[in-house]
Amino acid sequence: MSIAESPRPDPGVQRVGDLSEEELLAIITPLLPRATQAPVGTGDDCAVLSFPDARTAVSTDVLVEGHHFRTEWSTGRDVGARAAAQNLADAAAMGARPVALVVGLVMPPTTPVSWVRDLALGLAQGCESCGAGVVGGDLSAGDSLVVAVTVLGDLEGRTPVLRSGARPGDLVVHAGDLGRSAAGLALLSAGEQVMAEQHRELPQAQACLAAFRAPVPALAAGPALADAGATSMMDVSDGLLRDAGRIARASGVVIDLNDPDDLPELSVLEPVAGLVVGHGPAARALARNWLLNGGEDHGMLATIAADASGSLPAGARVIGRVLDPHDPQAHALGNRPGVLLAGEPAQERAGWDHFAGT
Ligand SMILES: [Mg+2]
Repeated sequence: MSIAESPRPDPGVQRVGDLSEEELLAIITPLLPRATQAPVGTGDDCAVLSFPDARTAVSTDVLVEGHHFRTEWSTGRDVGARAAAQNLADAAAMGARPVALVVGLVMPPTTPVSWVRDLALGLAQGCESCGAGVVGGDLSAGDSLVVAVTVLGDLEGRTPVLRSGARPGDLVVHAGDLGRSAAGLALLSAGEQVMAEQHRELPQAQACLAAFRAPVPALAAGPALADAGATSMMDVSDGLLRDAGRIARASGVVIDLNDPDDLPELSVLEPVAGLVVGHGPAARALARNWLLNGGEDHGMLATIAADASGSLPAGARVIGRVLDPHDPQAHALGNRPGVLLAGEPAQERAGWDHFAGT
């Protein structure tokens, strides 16, 4: 049951509708992370940010209760950490260092104040590794919970890394998790039986549930890959195949990914898939599906010149190569940009939320 649907409750629980905006802000503002590059922070009509690089990377993501999160599966802290992570990853994927978040929050008046406090703590948790702060936002009453976050990132003199710069001969690299968030979602979707006590104790299942609730993107890898000479980059929010396809089409190239059976992720994902479909070939297939099509892990997917392979940042590994669409090895795609998986045309799935539990 969502917060919005909750019966009017326990009078001992403080609800946001019981407080003025000023009273609520006085509770959450001290919990929010501070931005180091903000000469003027919260409390005025605008914050003022100071970027040594005059160019600023900006992006917004919106999380809607019932579509992007469920309050029975994720705490306020998880939602805050996830909202921060996906925005921070967008800035990092341009080669920028995330500096500040601006947060718009819509809440039913019955929302417990404790949920909003948790959300603020989750934003702080998500910002911890990169030092970004929350510099402003807005609060409003509404029918369901909506968390809209805008990120601002400092390019620090780097050339922004676009999706369109991949060149034939480049290596394809990835830093971060693949498939864990999708595996966590599938576990929660599978419900009671799968979530029985003995399964919850499986460490790989714990890791996947944590990744779904509050992903921890490899944020430092974004600027580091840019410094190492990345020719294209994006964060994987909709699945490896789908997002690799976006780079391939934007760049006019073919991306040939290595066989995922060689990736260490499968040793995490396969035991978890076994909980959902039983151990055996079906578990292997489901684990591969999560790895290739699962979104929301927000790892960094980049291409980089082959001679830069010796200077990859920590955590980045080679997962494929870039081909010219007219290369005979890309013949199966009919001279068009696209994605190959170990030399065969890859099936791009519709998106992370369309395959859970299949
Ligand atoms: Mg992105």
